[in-house]
Amino acid sequence: MNVIDERLQPILNTVLHRNAGEPEFHQAAREVLESLGRVVTKHAEYSEDALIERICEPERQIIFRVPWIDDQNQVRINRGFRVQFNSALGPYKGGIRFHPSVNVGIIKFLGFEQTFKNALTGMPIGGGKGGSDFDPKGRSDREIMRFCQSFMVELHRHIGEYVDVPAGDIGVGAREIGYMFGMYKRLNNRYEAGVLTGKGLSYGGSRARKEATGFGTVYFVRSMLARHGTDFDGKRCVISGSGNVAIYAMEKVRAFGGKVVACSDSGGYIVDEAGIDLDLVKRIKEVERGRICDYTALRGSGCHYIEGGSIWDVPCDVALPCATQNELSEADAKTLVENGVMAVAEGANMPCTPTAVQLFREAKVLFAPGKAANAGGVATSALEMQQNASRDSWSFQKTEERLAEIMHGIHEACDETADEYGVPGDYVTGANIAGFIRVAEAMRALGVI
Ligand code: GLU
Repeated sequence: MNVIDERLQPILNTVLHRNAGEPEFHQAAREVLESLGRVVTKHAEYSEDALIERICEPERQIIFRVPWIDDQNQVRINRGFRVQFNSALGPYKGGIRFHPSVNVGIIKFLGFEQTFKNALTGMPIGGGKGGSDFDPKGRSDREIMRFCQSFMVELHRHIGEYVDVPAGDIGVGAREIGYMFGMYKRLNNRYEAGVLTGKGLSYGGSRARKEATGFGTVYFVRSMLARHGTDFDGKRCVISGSGNVAIYAMEKVRAFGGKVVACSDSGGYIVDEAGIDLDLVKRIKEVERGRICDYTALRGSGCHYIEGGSIWDVPCDVALPCATQNELSEADAKTLVENGVMAVAEGANMPCTPTAVQLFREAKVLFAPGKAANAGGVATSALEMQQNASRDSWSFQKTEERLAEIMHGIHEACDETADEYGVPGDYVTGANIAGFIRVAEAMRALGVI
C-alpha cells in the first residue's frame, strides 16, 4: 500500500469517519489522496481553504423511495440515489446504475471518480452519480418502464440541463434512458433534450455514444502502447464483461488488429481461441438479453464456457477489465503478470483492487486507471450535450474523430503530468493529479462555496 502524505492523513481520517461502512468510497478517496502528496509539496495553494477536504465531501446527496408495481400486481420498494459531487467545472454529470449491489457508498465512490474523470476530458462538466438497488435481471419491459417512471417522478426535481445531467451505467442503457426522458418531459412539459445523455438516436441521442466507452478505452491503450513503441497488431486480449463497454472494446480491438479470446458475465466466462464472435455476443446480450453461457451452444465447436472461475486465468498480452468494481484481485494480477501481460486498462470503474494495481506497477505492466481509460463515454455524453444545445446531429465519423482526439489528449495529460511530478509512466498518479488540478483551479476561482 502506498503511503499518504502526513498533511493529507487527517483528511482521509475525516472521510473514513464521516462515511463509515463505505469501503469503496474509502478506497477511491485513499487512492486520490495518495497521489496528492506530490501536489501539495509543489503547490501549497491547493491545500488552502480546506480545498482538498471540500473536494472529498459531496455537494449534495439525495436518497429516495422508489415504489413500483410488478407484473404480479405486487407493490415493490427500492431505494434511489443521486450524489451530486462537484459542480465547479459544470453541471453535475454522471450515469445512473441499476444493480442490487448499489448503496450510497458505491454511488459516492462513483461520483468521486467521475469528478476527476470528467475534468480529465477537458469538457465543462462536473461530477455526480446515481442509481438504485433495483435488479433489472429477468424483469419484463413493462416492469422496467414502470420502475424508470417512478424513479424519475422523484429525480426530476433535482436535475436539469444546467443542473445535473444523468446518463447510463450498469443496468441502464438507451431503453431505460428513453423511459426516464419520457417521464421527465411529461412532468416538466418541456423538451429539454440536454437533461439526459445516452438517449436513443430517434430523440436527440448522439451517434457513437453507445460505442464510446469501449472504443475510448481501446484508443487510450493504443496511445499507451504507441508511447512504448508497440501496437495492438497480433496481441491476445482478454476483456471481462459483455455489456456495453466490453462489446465495443472488443470491436475496436479487432479493428486495430488484436484478437479477443475471452469475455464474461457474472455467471462465468467463455474462451474462443479463434477470436470471440462479436455478432453472436451482441445478439445474446443486446437483442435476447441472455447469458454468455448460451454462446457455446450457438457457436458450435472450438470454444468453451467456464462457470464461475476467473477470466484472468486466460493468458493474454492486454487485459481490459470492463465488468465492475474490484473484479480483478491481487491473485488475478499475479496470474496475469506470470502469464506475461503487457498492458491493463480499466474499462469499468475501479475494477482492480488496490493491491492488484500495486502489483502491476511493481511488475512494470502498463496500467491505465478507469478515470482516464474509460472517460470516452462521458466525453461523448458532453458531445451529445453540445449537439443538443446547438440543435445539431453529427455524423458517426465526426463524433468518433472528436472522441479519438479527446482520448489522445487524456493520455498526453496523464503521461506529461506523471513526468512533471517525477513518476514517469505512472498513469494512476498522472490521472489523479491532472484531474485534481483542473477541478482545484476552478474551485479556487469560485471562492469558498
Ligand atoms: N456511466 C459512465 C461513466 O462511468 C458514463 C457517464 C455519462 O455519460 O454521464 O463514466
